Amino acid sequence: MNQDAKTRSQRAVRQLLESWQRSGVTYLRQMEPLPELPAETTSPVEAPQEKPVQTVAPTTPLPRQSIVPPPQPTETSEEPTLESEQARKEMSVPRTTKSKMNKGDRQAELDILATQVSKCTRCPELAETRTQTVFGVGNPRAKIMFIGEAPGADEDKQGEPFVGRAGKLLDKIIEACQMKRSDIYIANILRCRPPGNRNPTDLEASNCRGYLDAQIEIVDPDYIVCWGSVAAKNLLHSDLPIGKMRGDFYEYGRAKVVCTYHPSYLLRNPSAKKNVWEDMIYLFADMGINLKAQG
Ligand code: URA
Repeated sequence: MNQDAKTRSQRAVRQLLESWQRSGVTYLRQMEPLPELPAETTSPVEAPQEKPVQTVAPTTPLPRQSIVPPPQPTETSEEPTLESEQARKEMSVPRTTKSKMNKGDRQAELDILATQVSKCTRCPELAETRTQTVFGVGNPRAKIMFIGEAPGADEDKQGEPFVGRAGKLLDKIIEACQMKRSDIYIANILRCRPPGNRNPTDLEASNCRGYLDAQIEIVDPDYIVCWGSVAAKNLLHSDLPIGKMRGDFYEYGRAKVVCTYHPSYLLRNPSAKKNVWEDMIYLFADMGINLKAQG
């Protein structure tokens, strides 16, 4: 890399780190010290300045490579820049280190993160109206991670994801797959209940994204299941209806991602349960497990 490019890259990393720090992100404990930079230049190809928006936490770039490439959003959205991809690489803990982390260490990291989340006020409306944050639950070294939308009233009361009616149905699906809830790690796009169970806004999802990505990085699952379009849309930056995303694997970091209908949708449309069952068969077949033979 020539000196100019190196300087631009360092500046981009530094701006990103500073913006994370301004947003209160302190989880990345292995962050390198901020690079020293030479005096500002006025090069026309200089990395763009960070906008002084304080409330938006950084989002992780799009998944690198999809087995089926995730569909691109139709509206304008932030494309990952070379600089942000570089910054992500430099800031994330190397996978080889992560995958060696034992269960206790992972749980300890999750506990630290959960404490930070419990104090989060990035979304003022949610922080004001929540009873408590709903961080995530389950096996800190789970092979499979479930991602839902956001806590509802029951989750807000109990502080645990998927404990209401939809959660009871999810439990049945887990059981049908010959697993226990404690085998899986369960989280949501949001960690706070949106008032009246409205859909998360893009800004709320973006504010919460750093936490979700940190959970994914710590648990380091082999598979992720996106339950419903809000989870799929936000994780994979897709605007496709969930029905179109089913039946393929996507890639997010190291994990293979399957998208399927949300349990709340199944409560309203029980005929779609067979589709979810197909999706589970598809996922488990990839792990070498024949669910059809197990029933
Ligand atoms: N629906 C979700 O998406 N998540 C929950 O935690 C509960 C209901």
